[in-house]
Amino acid sequence: MLDFDTAQDRLIQAAVRPTRSERIPVAQALGRIVATNVHATIAIPPADNSAMDGYAIRFADVEAGTRLPIQQRCYAGDVPEDLKPGHAIRLFTGSLMPAGADTVVIQENCSEDNEHVVFQTTPVLHAHVRIKGEDMSQDKTIILKGKALNSGHIAMLASQGITEIDVYPIPKIGILTTGDELAQPGQPLQVGQIYNSNAPMLSVLVQQLNAQVHMTRHAKDTLQDIQDALTALCAECDLVLTVGGVSVGDKDLVKPAIEGLGGEMNLWKVLMKPGKPVALAHIGDTPIVGLPGNPVSSYAVFTLMVSPMIRVLQGRRHAMPRVFYGKLESNKTFRDSREEFIRVQARADVDGFIYLTPHEQQGSAIISSLAWATGLARIPVNTDINNGDTVAYYDFKHWGF
Ligand code: AMP
Ligand code: MG
Repeated sequence: MLDFDTAQDRLIQAAVRPTRSERIPVAQALGRIVATNVHATIAIPPADNSAMDGYAIRFADVEAGTRLPIQQRCYAGDVPEDLKPGHAIRLFTGSLMPAGADTVVIQENCSEDNEHVVFQTTPVLHAHVRIKGEDMSQDKTIILKGKALNSGHIAMLASQGITEIDVYPIPKIGILTTGDELAQPGQPLQVGQIYNSNAPMLSVLVQQLNAQVHMTRHAKDTLQDIQDALTALCAECDLVLTVGGVSVGDKDLVKPAIEGLGGEMNLWKVLMKPGKPVALAHIGDTPIVGLPGNPVSSYAVFTLMVSPMIRVLQGRRHAMPRVFYGKLESNKTFRDSREEFIRVQARADVDGFIYLTPHEQQGSAIISSLAWATGLARIPVNTDINNGDTVAYYDFKHWGF
């Protein structure tokens, strides 16, 4: 038996970082992974400017009660005159700071009459001035290679006037489900059949990560069918996921199928629950991960072990998302001889502490628990976990995206 962390690490090691990149419009780059460090080419803001509507002054010229002539009205986009000593320039949010001014007094603290301004309070030196480059200085690295672009990054790139960016190609994922008992949703269900829920489930899990489901196949439990599907998938995909057929039953033919195609397969009994049988193989250069057939096991193994692999294939900086911690809320003791990942719902109290409530049915075929849960709580091997104990929490919002 392989422990969970070692198995997770082996899968991550089997994923190869991308070497190519492609240039795409920034407007289409949300969620894409940046392939080079991005540097600022201009300072942001490009010049000192006012953060408020008010008056630019020399700090030394003003105290409560001072009255100064208004030299100019300078709107955002205008070019200010140099501030004459003993004068004020009327400014608005985003107006450039005039040379010679060091402070902005907000209009709420002033009154105007007859082209003069009277200051009601003594100003604070440098108040309400946005300094050139305080956001992004010129030449500064503003986005690191391997970052997944979010809306804030898009705004940064746009503020730099950048319209195109180098990103890594989106990895192509193939999905092969197996099983004579499976009917496709939309088809009538015969006696003894169940619907193939894993294929749509895994497809959306892949899409949530911003990878691409390139091809899905379903194979009957025959060597020929599985091999035909594998051959097609491996020819075009960067990673192939197989589902089911990797235990030790008579119809568990994925291993012989892969070996028949010249691949070598490592089948591990991973010390985790759900999800004991996990397989890793290669056909040519294409890695293949064999997921268990039970929907919950498949979901858990994908989330905990395959999603880090896909992140590596995408070129992300970190294969592993953040793990949080929370207190278990349960009147039941959890303990297992395997590392157990239970479906829980998380809630935070007013102080932000996370509490985790387990689903009542923790069986690996309970699909409804997946829709209910917000993540997985980790119960360490051979350890009693009771109400109030702190456990690691793998939030689907982080581990599924
Ligand atoms: P297997 O590993 O092929 O023996 O599958 C284990 C269990 O998962 C069996 O009860 C299968 O019917 C079920 N199963 C396998 N594949 C799927 C699938 N694609 N969708 C739903 N259930 C599945
Ligand atoms: Mg099967």
